[in-house]
Amino acid sequence: MNGIRDSVAVVTGASSGIGRAAAMRFAAEGASVVAADVDAAGGEETVDAIHEAGGEATFVETDVSDRDDVEAMVATAVERYGGLDFAFNNAGIEGHNDSLVDQSDDDWERVVDINLKGVFLGLQAEIPAMIEDGGGAIVNTSSIAGVVGFQGVSPYVASKHGVIGLTKTAALEYGRDGVRVNAISPGVIETPMVERASTANPEMIEGVSEATPMGRIGEPEEIGDAAVWLCSADASFVTGETLVIDGGYVSQ
Ligand code: NAD
Repeated sequence: MNGIRDSVAVVTGASSGIGRAAAMRFAAEGASVVAADVDAAGGEETVDAIHEAGGEATFVETDVSDRDDVEAMVATAVERYGGLDFAFNNAGIEGHNDSLVDQSDDDWERVVDINLKGVFLGLQAEIPAMIEDGGGAIVNTSSIAGVVGFQGVSPYVASKHGVIGLTKTAALEYGRDGVRVNAISPGVIETPMVERASTANPEMIEGVSEATPMGRIGEPEEIGDAAVWLCSADASFVTGETLVIDGGYVSQ
């Protein structure tokens, strides 16, 4: 991919699943990666895997819902690697499975704080650093639950719809500063999150998998690779877009 070599990329949720796959691909394309997550053990595994493959990465323990942590994450990129070119705001949680009227305030706040406010705080810290560095590109992780509704996960659905709205608005506000902002909406992808969701709500996950026109669920690399592509110069006129990567599920 063009324009990734010798760049600096921040990836949140980098200790597992989609974030780890994206961090590995950024590094394989020649970016220095700041891998951010609340899970330090998983983050060190990601960084070790990148180093073993000959890439460059640093782990920063980061709660994306905490402004100080997110600012420290971006400061690490600037201080250690000299600036910030790309960010993948990907950390997220699924929340508890329950009907809408039974969802608790606590669960709403936790899910919205991490999935939506986390992206908001990321954008606030990353955009000024990118402008300082001559521009950049950001990808935010939404979901097919940001495009259509899903029963039992109303806070998750609301947070992921919000991510798409934030993405469009950031693209409008910072396009002239050379910052592109896009979202990815994955379908069902084989990660630890989906393993947990399958246990909580097997019908929903099985139903989506069976109803997927490609007849299978996705791999984390199929999302991580697309995130790196959206940041690359190969996507230089793409902004404000949501790329749905779901084997055709929401097209039917
Ligand atoms: P995952 O559980 O494997 O990875 C999520 C990572 O986010 C974990 O490493 C976790 O520690 C981290 N995280 C959680 N809370 C955090 C916080 N407060 N601060 C920093 N990091 C935190 O799940 P995944 O499937 O790789 O999910 C990645 C993203 O993709 C999420 O935003 C998720 O909603 C989204 N998504 C996943 C699927 C899927 O089917 N797997 C589908 C659509 C969207």
